[in-house]
Amino acid sequence: MYLVNRAHPLAEDLAPADLVPADGGRPGILLRREARDMLGQLLDAVDGRGAIVPVSGWRSRAEQQAIWDGALAEHGRAFTQTYVARPGCSEHQTGLAIDLGENRPEVDFLCPAFPDSGPCGALRRRAADFGFVLRYPAGKEAVTGIGHEPWHFRYVGLPHARIMEDRGLVLEEYLAWLRSFPAKAPLEGSGYALCYLPAGGEAVPPPGGRRKLEDTNDGGAVLTVWRDRP
Ligand SMILES: [Zn+2]
Repeated sequence: MYLVNRAHPLAEDLAPADLVPADGGRPGILLRREARDMLGQLLDAVDGRGAIVPVSGWRSRAEQQAIWDGALAEHGRAFTQTYVARPGCSEHQTGLAIDLGENRPEVDFLCPAFPDSGPCGALRRRAADFGFVLRYPAGKEAVTGIGHEPWHFRYVGLPHARIMEDRGLVLEEYLAWLRSFPAKAPLEGSGYALCYLPAGGEAVPPPGGRRKLEDTNDGGAVLTVWRDRP
């Protein structure tokens, strides 16, 4: 649940141990294993393999620096600040972000075509069911600090993606909202409970079965507990 933006840079270069190649793209496009697997399921669900190709996945800080420098030189400052995150501030560095493009003879690396119709449109509409969110939607530029990027998807997992989509929240807004659910008063969903644990705070996690604790990179962690449905 890493929040990475201009205000929340990564403290260090991340090279997750479970980076694996994304299917269908050129070699060297890597994602963390769970995100790669769920992307494969999403592509299958919309019959998108071949029509939609991965364009950019995990990046090291040095790669992000090179992309930033290249965009500045080629496209200028206004474009670069709108569409390229500063080195250390790109969620591509987490291995949980993927740029996807419509498969055309020429796929633009920085701004791949991703129409709202056909397989691309279908993928956008099903993404949340597989744990992905459109990270930089139109109308949220002031919150995300990034221009509308119809091609950039972020894996946040379930149930988070579904909740964000249903409530129209981007990651900045979602994590801020989750802070209103401490361990003693978690958000109760269908088969799960969620709470926000501030760093260093005393917390008694809600009871349940399988659980996942995720650093948010904004000073706390999100705990998800799955419960058996009655
Ligand atoms: Zn991207």
